[in-house]
Amino acid sequence: MIKSIFDLKIPDDYNLFTKGISQSLLGSFQNCRRKFLFEINRFQSPDIERKTTYGTMVHDLLEKIYIAFYRNKISWEDLTKMTLINIENYKLPNLFNQNDIELMKAKAQAMLEEYLIFYKTDFVNFKFEEIEKVFSVNFKGYILKGKIDGRIYDKNNGLWNIEHKNFSKIVDELPDLLTYDFQNLFYMVANRCKEKYDIVGVKYNVLRNPDVRKTVNPEEVYNHLKDLIKKDPRYYFIRYEIPYSSDKVKNFSFELWNKLNDLQEIIDIDDKKQQFFRLYKNEKACNSPYKCDFQQACSTCNLVGYKQKDKLFNELESSKKAIKIQ
Ligand code: SF4
Repeated sequence: MIKSIFDLKIPDDYNLFTKGISQSLLGSFQNCRRKFLFEINRFQSPDIERKTTYGTMVHDLLEKIYIAFYRNKISWEDLTKMTLINIENYKLPNLFNQNDIELMKAKAQAMLEEYLIFYKTDFVNFKFEEIEKVFSVNFKGYILKGKIDGRIYDKNNGLWNIEHKNFSKIVDELPDLLTYDFQNLFYMVANRCKEKYDIVGVKYNVLRNPDVRKTVNPEEVYNHLKDLIKKDPRYYFIRYEIPYSSDKVKNFSFELWNKLNDLQEIIDIDDKKQQFFRLYKNEKACNSPYKCDFQQACSTCNLVGYKQKDKLFNELESSKKAIKIQ
């Protein structure tokens, strides 16, 4: 078991030509090379599950809703019933006490019930080409990996990726930032490698993650949140449509190529020490935009308390099937 960060190196069996890279891992390399080094060794903070549980649950539940609609042709009325069952049955990690679990589920129930009402027309108009699409494509020899939440046709038969996001904070600049969003463009390039045609862009489906005080009981949270959402649903549910021109995707593909070359150059270094120092810290990224999960590791120079994931890309595994209504 590696404890000192100075013992870390890029694993011998890792390279971009066979194992590939996800947008998230390459994003870490851009943000802070040291963070990339931790992640390529599959380390993650012990708090990660605690921080991401609610968002993961809502994302999984949304996925089940659209899968049930697309693959199982479940009616809108039954989707609401199914979602309730899915929330009840959803297994949350045993890090949480019963009250925390019930609060999270009450919040998710209020959000998703109102989501289904607000976007009822999705379940008439959406024509999916694919859903939960896991890809692994060859981009000039490098392997790009990812998972697209869904892909739908517009009324002119243009194809759009759809991405579900849970944000506690939505900055005013988000529409501008999305015009050159790294994940979206990474997926657009990956699509071009595989399908040889361009998709129109990305429908960015944002659900706000509401803050609820822990002292309130689950029923109050549910009722309070339902009232708030009914009064102003557009505050909680926001969609952005971002078309990406062919030129924009082409230009991004050159940038991506250069980023991958920079990383591969470091992977190719044999001298472990030299490689370690090429994967240097970016101290400007430790608190920006959020607290980095590896602050303790960088501060103590060891990885005591950090966990190692089983698989490098376990977030790209295809997820479970929708629960059917009996
Ligand atoms: S704490 Fe800062 S330097 Fe360390 S991995 Fe995170 S962003 Fe990089």
